[in-house]
Amino acid sequence: MKNYDVVVIGAGPGGYPAAIRCAQLGLATACIDKWLDPEGGPVPGGTCLNAGCIPSKALLDTSHQYSFIKHEAQEHGIHSAGVTLDVHRMMTRKNRIVKTLTQGIGGLFRKYNVEWLPGEARMLSDRLIEVSPVGKEAGETYPVTTRHVIIATGSVPAAISVAQVDNRLIVDSSGALAFTDIPPRLGILGAGVIGLELGSVWGRLGSKVVILEALDRFLEPVDRKVAESAFRLLGAQGLDIRLGCRVTGTGSNNREVTVNYENQQEKQQLTVDKLIVAAGRKPNTKGLGAVDIGIEISEHGFIHVDEHCRTNLTNIYAVGDVVRGPMLAHKATAEGIMAAERIAGHKSSVNYSAIPGVVYTWPEIAWVGRTSQQLEAEAIDFRSGEFPFAASGRARASGSSDGLVRIFTDTKTDRILGVHILGPHASELIAEAVTAMEFDGCGEDLAKIIHAHPTLSEALHEAALAAGGHSLHI
Ligand code: FAD
Ligand code: NAD
Repeated sequence: MKNYDVVVIGAGPGGYPAAIRCAQLGLATACIDKWLDPEGGPVPGGTCLNAGCIPSKALLDTSHQYSFIKHEAQEHGIHSAGVTLDVHRMMTRKNRIVKTLTQGIGGLFRKYNVEWLPGEARMLSDRLIEVSPVGKEAGETYPVTTRHVIIATGSVPAAISVAQVDNRLIVDSSGALAFTDIPPRLGILGAGVIGLELGSVWGRLGSKVVILEALDRFLEPVDRKVAESAFRLLGAQGLDIRLGCRVTGTGSNNREVTVNYENQQEKQQLTVDKLIVAAGRKPNTKGLGAVDIGIEISEHGFIHVDEHCRTNLTNIYAVGDVVRGPMLAHKATAEGIMAAERIAGHKSSVNYSAIPGVVYTWPEIAWVGRTSQQLEAEAIDFRSGEFPFAASGRARASGSSDGLVRIFTDTKTDRILGVHILGPHASELIAEAVTAMEFDGCGEDLAKIIHAHPTLSEALHEAALAAGGHSLHI
């Protein structure tokens, strides 16, 4: 029987970096995953690489470029006629990117000596795991033993009874990343991150998109003013986002879907060619045997862990989407590395108050730390500084000057409490704010740092100057 120091279950962004780190630290490590590529071959990478972050960003990029050529290039004096989109080619490109990156993980496993065990894992005890090979590699089930386990089994789309996925007309995010045609009328249930990103992809390519959102508020984790600006801009791009509209039922024939929803108790109906269900994701522990061996699970199905991702069984850790906290790839990776290092005897930790979030619409929305509404609710005395990209030379030069930066600092200590950005490349700009917060930075620190000119990062600098009452360009 094969015996390891650590077995990692799941090779998504929580599991595969954890396995690599364990091996780097000298631990005999195996990583088990059951994901199958479209040809039925086992493949690492999890949701993020195969059906999440990477394929969605590939389509967002293609659709952004298409939309630029169609609607904005003329402004630059670039004329193009007869621009068309080849959906098949766009999908082939996306699939090629995914394949390159997942193969890369295979290469890293070989480089760092992680044993890759494709198959489904079931825990028989805290030290004994049964592996059932799947897909093309299906065969005899076999046991492995281990001193430690890291569970990184991720999440799956939350199924809701009012809109059951049929993978034909009603799809989840995976289905929407693989449409073969542009649906003329596209409905989306949920204006969360997935709804906005996939709505942007298909809207830019020509779908008439209606997004139905049960809540009255838009993008709750984002600062109110930034979220309101984003709502207006996305609306102006053609995304018809209807807040306070709870989907109550769906019906479909062979061609179209009827969506019933309620808005302030009034019953309404919408007919679309495709409906994407993007109502959130739920932790995945199906078939894992976690409950059978005594691992505590919370009422919402998350594996219960302490701040270091340790479960109630001391040799078992759990990381990523399967435990509490935001369902984000970088959060999963940070936790996976922490678990690996703790198993190796290090005192690693994760700073949960400095995890950035990004919505990859255009402009992008990115944030870290608290919102003004949270600070008000907590009665924290804070100053805010703001800078619109309309006043940024670089944003003007590139033709993307919508949006703003908001920064919040503690009135007494000047510590940065939150930074919220709506603007071009906000996903990259937020890294500076995260770094500043990780180093306990103050508004004055950001205001004193020299930022290259002309860059978008000057907007962050100016927002920090504004928080200190010394705005230069507004
Ligand atoms: P996963 O990536 O879900 O990996 C879990 C792995 O465990 C899977 O490969 C699964 O096959 C395997 N597994 C499960 N059970 C077993 C078992 N019993 N035996 C063997 N293997 C098992 N996050 C971001 O930060 N940025 C983004 O831009 C972003 N975009 C997204 C877009 C979409 C459309 C979606 C759906 C998600 C997106 N996310 C994004 C979220 C991100 O994908 C997840 O937060 C991340 O993948 C979680 O990583 P994980 O390792 O915890 O789980
Ligand atoms: P979400 O929780 O962000 O949004 C789901 C939305 O659906 C909610 O706003 C909810 O109110 C709404 N909803 C639920 N039932 C409804 C109903 N009956 N009618 C109308 N609206 C309804 O979930 P998501 O967008 O599915 O994303 C899932 C997870 O994936 C998120 O946790 C997110 O962190 C992650 N993700 C991250 C990124 C990124 O980081 N860029 C991208 C995609 C996904």
